Amino acid sequence: MKNIVLFGPPGAGKGTQAEIIKNSYNLFHISTGDVFRNNIKNNTPLGILAKGYMDKGELVPDDVTIEMLNNEVVCNLDSNGFIFDGFPRTTSQAIALDKLMDLNNTIISAMIALEVEDETLISRLVKRGKTSGRSDDSDESIIKNRISEYYKKTSILKEYYQQKDRYYGINGEGQVNDISFRLKELIDSL
Ligand code: AMP
Repeated sequence: MKNIVLFGPPGAGKGTQAEIIKNSYNLFHISTGDVFRNNIKNNTPLGILAKGYMDKGELVPDDVTIEMLNNEVVCNLDSNGFIFDGFPRTTSQAIALDKLMDLNNTIISAMIALEVEDETLISRLVKRGKTSGRSDDSDESIIKNRISEYYKKTSILKEYYQQKDRYYGINGEGQVNDISFRLKELIDSL
C-alpha cells in the first residue's frame, strides 16, 4: 500500500492535487473537510457539531475527527492505498493515524507538503469563495483564522514526519499541471 499525506495550509491546493493523484495511483482519497461538509449537508449529529467549529475557522475536536477518519479507512481497506487530505492536523491525530496504519500492517509512506506563500493562500481562498459556496471561504477573517490554526496546531507536524525521515516538500505555486508533475515525480521516487 502507498499511503500519502498531502500537507499544507488552507488554500495550498491539497484537494485539487489529491483528485489528480488518486487517479494516477489508484488511491482512495479521504478529505476530512469533505466528510464533514457531507455530514453538514445531511444534517447528521456529526455535521451539526462540526459546523460550529468550521464556521469559525477552528479545528473540530480530535476525538470526533479521529473516530470519523478511522471509520473512513476501515471501510476502504481494499484500496491500493490512501491519500489523506486535511488529516492529520494535530499531533494527536498524527499519532492516531500511525496506530491505525500499524493495526493494518502498513505505514504512511510520505508526508508531502505543498509550499505556498501566505499571500497566495489568501487570494486563492477568496477567489474560491466566490464559487465554492463554502461559508468559511467567504469571509477574510475566517480565512485568516484557518491559516492561524494551521500555524499554531498543524505546522509542527513537519517535524513529526521529519523525525521519521518521511517528510518531503514541493513548490506548490504556479499552474495546477506543473504542481502535479512535481508531485508525481516525487511519488515515483519513493
Ligand atoms: P478543509 O476542507 O480541509 O479546508 O477543512 C475545512 C474545515 O473542516 C477546517 O477548517 C476544520 O474546521 C475542519 N477540519 C477538516 N479536517 C480537520 C481535521 N483533520 N481536524 C480538525 N478539523 C478539521
